[in-house]
Amino acid sequence: MQQKETILKQYFGYDSFRSGQAEIIDAMAEGRDLLAIMPTGAGKSICYQVPALMDEGITLVVSPLVSLMKDQVGALLQAGVRAAYINSSLTPGQQQEALRRAMMGAYKIIYVAPERLLTPAFLWFAETADIRRVTVDEAHCVSQWGQDFRPSYLSVAEFIGKLSRRPVLSAFTATATAGVRQDILALLGLEEPLVYMAGYDRPNLEFCVEQPRNKNLALLGHLRDFGGKSGIVYCSTRKAVEAVCEFLRQQGIAATRYHAGLEDAERRANQDDFLYDRAEVMVATNAFGMGIDKSNVSFVIHYNMPKDLESYYQEAGRAGRDGEPAKCILLYSPQDVITGRYFIEHGRDEEEMDPETRAKVQEQASERLKRMTFYATTTDCLRGFILRYFGETAPSECGNCSNCKDGFETVDIAPAAKQVVLCVEQLHRLGRAYGKNALSAILRAAPGAKATAASTEAFGTLAGLSDAALRAILDALVREGYLAVGEGEYPVLETTEKSEEVFSGESLTVKLKVATRRAVRGEKAPTEQSANPELLAQLKALRLSLARSAGVPAYAVFTDATLREIATHLPRTNAEFAGIKGVGTVKCNRYGEEFTAAVREYLEKSN
Ligand code: ADP
Ligand code: ZN
Repeated sequence: MQQKETILKQYFGYDSFRSGQAEIIDAMAEGRDLLAIMPTGAGKSICYQVPALMDEGITLVVSPLVSLMKDQVGALLQAGVRAAYINSSLTPGQQQEALRRAMMGAYKIIYVAPERLLTPAFLWFAETADIRRVTVDEAHCVSQWGQDFRPSYLSVAEFIGKLSRRPVLSAFTATATAGVRQDILALLGLEEPLVYMAGYDRPNLEFCVEQPRNKNLALLGHLRDFGGKSGIVYCSTRKAVEAVCEFLRQQGIAATRYHAGLEDAERRANQDDFLYDRAEVMVATNAFGMGIDKSNVSFVIHYNMPKDLESYYQEAGRAGRDGEPAKCILLYSPQDVITGRYFIEHGRDEEEMDPETRAKVQEQASERLKRMTFYATTTDCLRGFILRYFGETAPSECGNCSNCKDGFETVDIAPAAKQVVLCVEQLHRLGRAYGKNALSAILRAAPGAKATAASTEAFGTLAGLSDAALRAILDALVREGYLAVGEGEYPVLETTEKSEEVFSGESLTVKLKVATRRAVRGEKAPTEQSANPELLAQLKALRLSLARSAGVPAYAVFTDATLREIATHLPRTNAEFAGIKGVGTVKCNRYGEEFTAAVREYLEKSN
């Protein structure tokens, strides 16, 4: 059996394993079943690809998305691994041919769609060939409690049961809630597995929450800041995807779109445009992304708040898989909660459930939505909030989220608070009650302020404040219980038992998110420092042309991180090139000549 370190270096070009990888690989190599729960970007693929190459036999990888197998296999072939896929995108003739070659030992790793497993041809192959391992990727798809239930995943256990020699079974997922975990263990039939749970933290991701007045403008501002970097914009409905994508295109941004309502051909073409860097921005529903391993996604922006933190962290986690600094921005609006509730009440998946199960599922979904909303409105560290949600401990500040960075300031709002409460009381005496917008206008004597309020003493007393500042103060007063939102048809503000306290105290300090938007937007996008930027640009161009002629995405040739390594360490010979992080033996032989030539040329010119 070959050493795992040798395989890692030879095929993937890395010198060391990330945390958890070695332990997982050892267990699999010893023949032990495994369930690994690791966040997106932690490096799951290497965990099953390395054992597959350590000794004899074939590894089957069950994967849910037909459209992505091609890319996964393409990347493996680039690294010199003999791999293939069998799914409905092949004609019956091609499938037969692939199985015939597989029988002859042509492949070490075979990706297969779960729907194929129980077909007679595949069963016959599996029984005859030397299948040592079966890996189930995105294993949460087997669970009805998870968010991506796929009935075809239930056939995995049946498939394994039909084989006369039981292969070693392993399962990988990023979803970690207890119910889903129990389902995976039971429904896949894992036997005394090692259960590995990785830490959930992704330090290179910066989390931001904003509540912009105009989401389109906020989005556009961010995209301009990112300056052509690759990223995903998630929307909660197909309609929103269409509208946002259209808006971005009108603004001259190379955006493409993806949702379940599009024709297969368009979906595939758009996905490829994004993977191959022809479109910089993908606007999509949550149908997009499972299994996507595009490593250079620099940002994930949520145009709408997702239904729960599980979904949010999985989707946001598609940013920064290469370990580079990346941003995850949630554009929150209270309307998102209403949409979320609507989805829960009208969930299509639940139509077939009996009323009792359905009520329970809806109750759980409501609770998850509530926690998601807390995330969107918390003044605490966002990373800490996520980690605690997934059952981990976290320090009170991470220093790399919008709340830690400079989102909140402690401000004394006593003078303004007195006027606000006075205003609400005086209006009450007139038999009136208003919401935040109207109150803000009255206090600032702004155009459109209710005429009936003009007679009150408080009218115009806060004319020096901006609408945004005044609304932030109103929000804070509600949050701290000095005012309450009425239960009636309209969200009007009312006094509370605590209201009088604003008159007694000298000061009233609250945390205000005044600077958030400015702070988040004014700050520069993650810096991409490289020793020789000019060379880096040439290397990128070289990579693109090599990728084009090989028909693979650019990152399958080398990742951005690897190109930066090259630009920094300036390898002039193949031997030096082999020492670069991310360069394996096959890629060294295949590309060493061209990349070292580019380096030599650059050095000669600059001397
Ligand atoms: P996951 O499937 O867990 O979301 P991937 O398997 O796609 O993550 O890996 C994410 C990125 O991390 C890939 O670009 C991969 O090449 C890289 N990676 C994985 N393991 C290592 C390692 N030991 N050293 C350096 N990079 C790694
Ligand atoms: Zn933080």
